[in-house]
Amino acid sequence: MEQYLSDKVKAIKPSGIRKFFDLASAMDDVISLGVGEPDFDTPWHIREAAIYSIESGKTFYTANQGLKELRVEICRYMKRRFQLDYQPDANVVVTVGGSEGIDIALRAIVNPGDEVILMQPNYVAYEPGVQLAGGKPVFVELKEEDQFKLTPEALRSAITPKTKAVLLNFPSNPTGGVMTYEDYEKLVPIIEAHHLIVISDEIYAELSYDTKHASLANFPSIKDQVILISGFSKAFAMTGWRLGYVIANETFTKAMNKIHQFIIMSAPTAAQYGAIEALRHGEEHVEEMRASYQNRRNFIVKGFERIGLPTHMPQGAFYIFPCIKSTGLTSEEFCERLLTEQKVAVVPGTAFGEAGEGYIRVSYAASLEQIKTALERIAVFIQQFR
Ligand code: PMP
Repeated sequence: MEQYLSDKVKAIKPSGIRKFFDLASAMDDVISLGVGEPDFDTPWHIREAAIYSIESGKTFYTANQGLKELRVEICRYMKRRFQLDYQPDANVVVTVGGSEGIDIALRAIVNPGDEVILMQPNYVAYEPGVQLAGGKPVFVELKEEDQFKLTPEALRSAITPKTKAVLLNFPSNPTGGVMTYEDYEKLVPIIEAHHLIVISDEIYAELSYDTKHASLANFPSIKDQVILISGFSKAFAMTGWRLGYVIANETFTKAMNKIHQFIIMSAPTAAQYGAIEALRHGEEHVEEMRASYQNRRNFIVKGFERIGLPTHMPQGAFYIFPCIKSTGLTSEEFCERLLTEQKVAVVPGTAFGEAGEGYIRVSYAASLEQIKTALERIAVFIQQFR
């Protein structure tokens, strides 16, 4: 039946993360540091608010853009947390996770053949997203020696007359790299000069450890060029609720809402009530979880250093991206053998693009106990390469 599939879909490569989950799920006693989701349950008060919304009959579609009350809370949150001014009607669409946000942002702006600059290594959904929107992904390699930041030189080198947009993700999945206000300051003149649209996936914004989170939307001269994507999955431990949002200028917001209303109608209603509660009373829990990830980050980075796999100190999200070149193995070989020989699941850096060769992604959204045991097993595993 292959001949019936669209060329666009056939061109999409399977996810390099799935393969390892499938292998790991068929084995016993595996410690998985593979998944990209919080190990916390959603805080109770958020769950209760959603349950209560169902009990009180809030079981209908909401406005396409999302409940007004929720959009008001999102704008207040953006203001108090990130010093960003937006309006609930003009600038916000509530989406089915950040995932839908990425899709509708790309589809709203990309014409066939437009180039979209992506970082590498990068989150697995961006390349297929650009392809499905009819665009052409152009990659910029982020290097460990630059702390996995986007430098002005690297951005400039990827721009052609066909460049429409650049898709950024800081704090980054998979590297944990961040961009500070000062780092972004150097990119602003380039973005201005080339009239680039910035799609900024800031889903890990709250999980910043050493510096204050910054956004390109904080720069007034290019604010209207920025489409900001965020959501509740990571900071509020709400992956299964499927709730996120996009924020942009009024024209882009209308365009994204046009796609959203025909493909989604409206994001899940109970999840939206949960999200209102999360924004009104959830920030203490976010801070507790952030502090806990920070402890685990410090622990796991030290652990990897001790066993001889040096690791860039990630400044955000909940992943480390250690270099495994000293073992002489490729990223795929390393992960396959670590799984079969020592039963620890991590993800090859190449799942995030060719530039990830020589690295692995290890999630520390796991208990300290699991991290400790995984470190012991990895230490045994790499003995044979010393
Ligand atoms: N962006 C990044 C960088 C992610 O890591 C993820 C989840 N792994 C998402 C977006 C999607 O998140 P969600 O759809 O659950 O909001």
